[in-house]
Amino acid sequence: MAIASLPASNPTIRINMHETDMTKALILTVKDWYESQSKQTKIEKIHLIVGQFTCVEPQGLQFAFEVQTRNTFLAGAELVIKDIPLIAFCHSCEQEYQPQIGLQYACAECNSPMEDIRSGRELKIERIEYSDPSQTVNDFELVTSK
Ligand SMILES: [Zn+2]
Repeated sequence: MAIASLPASNPTIRINMHETDMTKALILTVKDWYESQSKQTKIEKIHLIVGQFTCVEPQGLQFAFEVQTRNTFLAGAELVIKDIPLIAFCHSCEQEYQPQIGLQYACAECNSPMEDIRSGRELKIERIEYSDPSQTVNDFELVTSK
């Protein structure tokens, strides 16, 4: 990881590339859409769905968003993040369970390894709010490279 190789004395703000890249993708997605509109009203809020298993840190995302939108068409827009828990399905027990992220990716009942993820990998824009409420957009998929 790039972060780990930084010298300990380096006062770099703790934000990793993951969130920075994610935010770039987010802003580009919104910008493309925004510029294709005939009427451009101010964007007030962007509602984002972030699955816990994406390993995206909501705080880091908020910070990156604020920094990267300064002096852009999104300046002052609010990023609202909805956390989606990691839910897996165990085929032996035929039930859903919540793996412990970073600790145990297996069924708590029978210990089968996590295979079937039902939710927690989402990363998308749920909704964009405008100062003109007649314009509302739902469900953008964010395409990012890992
Ligand atoms: Zn099980």
